[in-house]
Amino acid sequence: MTSEIVIVKRSEIGLGLFALIDIPKGTKIIQYTGERIRKDDTERHKGRYLFTLNDKWTIDGKSRTNLARYANHSCRPNAETITTVNKIWIVAKRKIKAGEEITYNYGKTYFNQFIKPNGCKCVKCKSVKLQPVTSKC
Ligand SMILES: [Zn+2]
Repeated sequence: MTSEIVIVKRSEIGLGLFALIDIPKGTKIIQYTGERIRKDDTERHKGRYLFTLNDKWTIDGKSRTNLARYANHSCRPNAETITTVNKIWIVAKRKIKAGEEITYNYGKTYFNQFIKPNGCKCVKCKSVKLQPVTSKC
């Protein structure tokens, strides 16, 4: 699965999204796509791929055609998400080199719900694993 600038492949913690080419800072890498659902309806659409668009709408990005869902969480990410009127983009926070995994910070709510229980496996957290657990995730 590829777009022009990213590819989905195996990372250390499952599938991840990787840069195929050097991506300049500020580039809109990929759009987070999916079914648009009313926020009141998110109870029925449970899952890890819900992404808040605005006060009214949430995007359910569970479809495998949504390549953006493969971008993993990192506490020291190289990308971030930017929400425009009705679109969510993953944007390069800094220059990303070809072959690098693209990551962004999933935010506190997701982190506490899905990542914290098993421990964060991002590069930053793994590198401080041997120290007392005081990660500032
Ligand atoms: Zn982490």
